[in-house]
Amino acid sequence: ATPTALLVGTGRGAQLGVLIRGVAALESARRIDTIVLDKTGTLTSGRMRVTGVHPLPEVSRSELLRLAAAVEACSEHPVAHAIVIAAGAEDGLSLPPADAFHAEPGLGARGTVDQVRVTIGNARLLALDGIDVDQVTGSADTVVYVAWDGQLRGWITIADTLRESTVPMLRRLRALGLRPVLLTGDSLAAAEGVAAQVGLTEVIADVTPEAKAATVRRLRDEGATVAMIGDGVNDAAALAEADLGVAIATGSDVAIEASDVTIVRARAGTVDLTAVVDALSLARATLRTIK
Ligand code: ADP
Ligand code: MG
Repeated sequence: ATPTALLVGTGRGAQLGVLIRGVAALESARRIDTIVLDKTGTLTSGRMRVTGVHPLPEVSRSELLRLAAAVEACSEHPVAHAIVIAAGAEDGLSLPPADAFHAEPGLGARGTVDQVRVTIGNARLLALDGIDVDQVTGSADTVVYVAWDGQLRGWITIADTLRESTVPMLRRLRALGLRPVLLTGDSLAAAEGVAAQVGLTEVIADVTPEAKAATVRRLRDEGATVAMIGDGVNDAAALAEADLGVAIATGSDVAIEASDVTIVRARAGTVDLTAVVDALSLARATLRTIK
């Protein structure tokens, strides 16, 4: 392979709306047969909205939202944005500042509000605090639990919408003969909701960032050549583990840095995932020319 032809390929990539880091990425892109897809912020827009606020009996709705949003105001996760917006829409609710904020990628966040230690996230995070949650089952929405002073205080449900380009991207990936796998830190019910909408059959849900990376490693050990598309801090290790890591330009910096390719193409103000199919086709074509 001549480096010149490969460099022409990376220049063409920029025109197509993908930034390709180094020519080695094009080499791997040619051999991809499996594509692992993150859910929140990748297949979905990540512009989430709160659909329900469920305080336990001794807690008021506004108190639950107030403490949850005060912590989430420090977070960049799509779930956090939704909760802050919901709190802003609530009459007479003002957010106190949070101290000691700490993000737990793939799990949730913690912070201190009015000297109360607040934890917000999935059941696994609450379990780390020794709080056993009877999980809300069967919801296709994302469910986050809120606890303070060592007790569960309620939960909040959040809905997301598919990206417009998700179904067209999947159709084209299948036409290329690629095997798509959904891999998410969200619940199985939420994952299956999205999978059913887009016709995905391989679904791996409720996984930590480490388990995301281990899943990619396992697929590779089984002989697959894997591209992974993701947006979040929780995807970084899996993106680095993949033969080809693909990040969404509006995703976290950590995800972009761990990737070989960044999707920058946008349509109507939102990321266009079909750029990744063009990048894979480009890699195949570029390498064909120089053989
Ligand atoms: P995905 O893998 O689909 O992108 P994430 O790993 O980003 O999803 O999130 C997995 C789960 O972790 C979310 O569904 C949510 O329950 C929880 N979570 C992550 N970050 C936060 C946060 N800032 N606040 C509340 N929950 C969070
Ligand atoms: Mg994500």
